[in-house]
Amino acid sequence: MLHESRQQLLTTDKKATQTMIKPSDASVWASCIRRVWLDKHQAGQVNIGVSDFDQLLRDSGLEYETAVLTKLQQQYIVHKAYSIKHTRELMQQHVPVIYQGRLLDEQQSLIGYPDFLILHESGHYQAADVKLSHSANKKSIQIQLGLYRRILNNQLPALVFLGDGNTATLGDETKPLVDRFITDMEALLAMDEQPTVRYSHSKCRICPYFERCTPEFEANEDVSLIYGIHGNSANHLASMGLSTITQLANSCAEAIPDVPHLKGYKKKHHAILQAKAYQTGEIYQLNDITLPEGMWIHFDIEDNPLTTTHERHVYLWGLLATPYSFNDFDYVWTDDETQDYQGWINFLEKIDNYRTQYSTFVLAHYSNHERTTIRKYAERYAMKDHATVVWLLGNNSPLFDMQKAVVDNLVLPLKGYGLKDICKHKDLVNFQWQDEDSGSQWSVVQFSRFLAATDPHAKLKLKNEILSYNRDDVMATRQLEEWLRNINSSKIRTIKEMN
Ligand code: SF4
Repeated sequence: MLHESRQQLLTTDKKATQTMIKPSDASVWASCIRRVWLDKHQAGQVNIGVSDFDQLLRDSGLEYETAVLTKLQQQYIVHKAYSIKHTRELMQQHVPVIYQGRLLDEQQSLIGYPDFLILHESGHYQAADVKLSHSANKKSIQIQLGLYRRILNNQLPALVFLGDGNTATLGDETKPLVDRFITDMEALLAMDEQPTVRYSHSKCRICPYFERCTPEFEANEDVSLIYGIHGNSANHLASMGLSTITQLANSCAEAIPDVPHLKGYKKKHHAILQAKAYQTGEIYQLNDITLPEGMWIHFDIEDNPLTTTHERHVYLWGLLATPYSFNDFDYVWTDDETQDYQGWINFLEKIDNYRTQYSTFVLAHYSNHERTTIRKYAERYAMKDHATVVWLLGNNSPLFDMQKAVVDNLVLPLKGYGLKDICKHKDLVNFQWQDEDSGSQWSVVQFSRFLAATDPHAKLKLKNEILSYNRDDVMATRQLEEWLRNINSSKIRTIKEMN
């Protein structure tokens, strides 16, 4: 087939399918129906860039897809499809495997691009996709594969080549979800006005429409802006006449009936205080904060989920010990996955050294990720009975999750309780990272560049940038520790709210 004719076919496909329902709409639909509506109705009006991290995920996905393609090519003759028409021709010829096929059902307005179409002994084709995910339970994967099955219109289950090397099958169990997706998408495509939705801190802050949607939520004083108020709870509260932050702040917990995700006095009381904090910027203290005794060492890891072994590789175990200056930053670094075991052992040795040095010490971290990672490494290397591991994960563990201490005891004027939310806030900890753009995803991108770099100077520069970011993270948790101690000694104005 000539290059020009392939281009013509692609253009024809694009024009014919612009307003159709695509399996790729599924992940956006599962996240926010307004985002789907905006994607379909405002295409081109907002610059939807791809973040470096998303690009890295795409590249890794393509790399894995190529690896699966190579494996299939060792067993079958694989034909690449260039258009809907070409896919149909290849299917009519009963070729063994079609790569990047294009499936169209004009009647149902459905279009799908399965990575592979594999000829089954029954003479029908079976759709297969390559996913980095280790499970096929995700809604978006079920819908995508379910849609391919619907267009193919046969009884064969679809296949998912998972990121951990396993293959999952998806059959008729996906039908109800696919039905709901299609019905919803048809309604969304027919709507002239954007659908009403609620704010979600985790989804909205990374959405390209954030600047467009947030002013509306704020102008309406939408209660979903309040930490702990789920969108579904907000809908139920609104149906009872409680739809603004002011109304919530002026309520009393006993008068609010139980609604989904907001049941019981404690949660409702917390939500009311959170609404008050949002309005006034004040800090509410629910309980005294108990900080463990001992020498505090701040701890934060950087890990890469995109590995060839499909297990997260900790490339940096970062630590900050007394007197907590810039130069007290200590760490274990590994250049790549082949050093994974050595990095883990070096980390345990460092912990043993601290243990010898300090009779009691606290290993302070923010969120449960560090503890979970230590447990996973102990399982990975069959070291659950190793003395240091037993101590780290046992009843007298030195690990201390500062996030839990904050969330359990304080109500802060924040929409989220991530380390940066609380530390960067000028009226709270007020610690600023040297690199404004740095973050855990940024770190993974830098590490992937480090892996790819061949020039030693470029490599060192990337490593230093990652170290600098991790050092800021542990210095931030140190600042947070001091801030919490000041709260305990009443140096920071709080409003006491004893339960
Ligand atoms: S900003 Fe939030 S509400 Fe708006 S489209 Fe994005 S995810 Fe949906």
